[in-house]
Amino acid sequence: MHGLMMDDALLISNLIEYAADYHGDREIVSRTVEGPIHRYTYSQASQRSKQLANALEALNIKLGDRVATIAWNGYRHFELYYGISGMGGVCHTINPRLFPEQLIYIINHAEDKLVFLDLTFVPLLEALQDKLPKVEGYVIMTDAAHMPDTALKNVMCYEDLIAAQSDTYSWPQLDERSAAAMCYTSGTTGNPKGALYSNRSTVLHTMFVCGTDIFGVSGKMTILPAVPMFHVYAWGFPYAATMVGAKLVFPGAAYDGASMYELLDTEQVTATAGVPTIWLMLLDYLKKEGKTLPHLEMAGIGGAATPLSMIEAFEDDHGVRVHHAWGMTELSPVGTTARLNPRVEALPTSERRKYQVKQGRAVHGVKMKIIDDAGNELPRDGVAFGELAVRGPWVISEYFGDPDASASQFTGDGWFLTGDVATLDSEGHMQIVDRSKDVIKSGGEWISSIDLENTAVGHEGVAEAAVIGLPHPKWDERPLMIVVRADGSDPSPQEILDYLSDKVAKWWLPDDVVFIDELPHTATGKIAKIPLREQFKDHQFSTA
Ligand code: AMP
Repeated sequence: MHGLMMDDALLISNLIEYAADYHGDREIVSRTVEGPIHRYTYSQASQRSKQLANALEALNIKLGDRVATIAWNGYRHFELYYGISGMGGVCHTINPRLFPEQLIYIINHAEDKLVFLDLTFVPLLEALQDKLPKVEGYVIMTDAAHMPDTALKNVMCYEDLIAAQSDTYSWPQLDERSAAAMCYTSGTTGNPKGALYSNRSTVLHTMFVCGTDIFGVSGKMTILPAVPMFHVYAWGFPYAATMVGAKLVFPGAAYDGASMYELLDTEQVTATAGVPTIWLMLLDYLKKEGKTLPHLEMAGIGGAATPLSMIEAFEDDHGVRVHHAWGMTELSPVGTTARLNPRVEALPTSERRKYQVKQGRAVHGVKMKIIDDAGNELPRDGVAFGELAVRGPWVISEYFGDPDASASQFTGDGWFLTGDVATLDSEGHMQIVDRSKDVIKSGGEWISSIDLENTAVGHEGVAEAAVIGLPHPKWDERPLMIVVRADGSDPSPQEILDYLSDKVAKWWLPDDVVFIDELPHTATGKIAKIPLREQFKDHQFSTA
């Protein structure tokens, strides 16, 4: 017997419709690519999303057609989130930091019909367009006054495109399972893989991410999503803020410490979220300039492990509570947040922080377990570690048009294999040990490169650290630590090893510490280990 309740669809268009009706006057502030700060309201965003939807229909975009965006965080990108998905298209956000071959692969594989791009990316698309036979036109996200001279074919100006359209539009009542958006992974090996989100998965993700014990998103907040909108929905904040009526502040293309501080300060931002690299730049700037963050209350940090020293700096120096989170493109993206139960919350600060550095507990809806190589579930004792497998209503059920990738990353009984190696403790706190391909196998035991890196950045002379395993005649592999020195510091390898010696197991201590000016990063800001392995493949350990 079914319940006797209405099956009203969960649709992305309902979010913006609701925002216009219930908090239409709340502000959306954007640092524009053109330069000035732009301000308007949810009500205006809703009207312009409708004009955009009319324009897309006029351009013959039909249900399920993919429409690409290559853009920074800003109000026009926000309108595209709603206009494309709302009218039944698929909003395909593309990470411009991927290699050109990967961009070509993605746009062709998704069969994008239109590409909306910020001014910044005009030269990039000009160089690629001859290899993109399916793209019918390019829309530059600016006004007529800023339109560049461009070799792009079938080029349109965003403001002219929507100005020609009415702001009267009835959002179609789509099937909630219809595709709404997509994002490709930034895999370091092989081709990127596409996650295709539905209206239903997106709205459910939004509702759960808002929860008080997850990110606690509230209409009283001013939120600056510092994670790019081209990477997994900026962790869902553009939807979450719309649902509750929070003021939104978009940083445009400027992520350096000074620019971030300026917006956080002038707009009195109370909540933000981003990857550790962004916060390293900000914290460094604040320290040098002797500035503080009096308005900011919460920082969500994820995408890579949050070091203890970062949690200490935010909380002790600036009174900002850190919420560590873990997620993936394949999970829309949020899977866990380090929300603490009352027992852990009441622990002395140093004990509490041992839980904050863990990636956290599953958001209701996401089920997780750790398994061994044979697929057997491992105990939740905080010690045993194995591959993390997940399932849930906002986890992909397969990759878009990629049966081979799908075949290798799902168990036969419906679990997605994350490729992360993790522990789970008895209260559900998950801790990532490593990506399965980065873990270092020494004498039959595993060494976590993440733990070593995060401990090393606690040393004041270390700006960033990467650890890779190199072949060793006796132990199979031993760790090499590669360090970027903090400005004005000159620590010796021995000083760093001494610092680590009472913080990690003795046999985890790197066999060597070497220095480098800059570490390579992936398109999503994670340390890229493949080029490091290549660069240091002939390194001889002094202790070997
Ligand atoms: P992406 O799909 O690009 O968002 O990358 C997802 C991957 O980033 C995960 O599978 C993890 O390996 C890593 N990751 C995300 N959040 C964290 C975190 N809080 N700590 C450690 N690794 C993380």
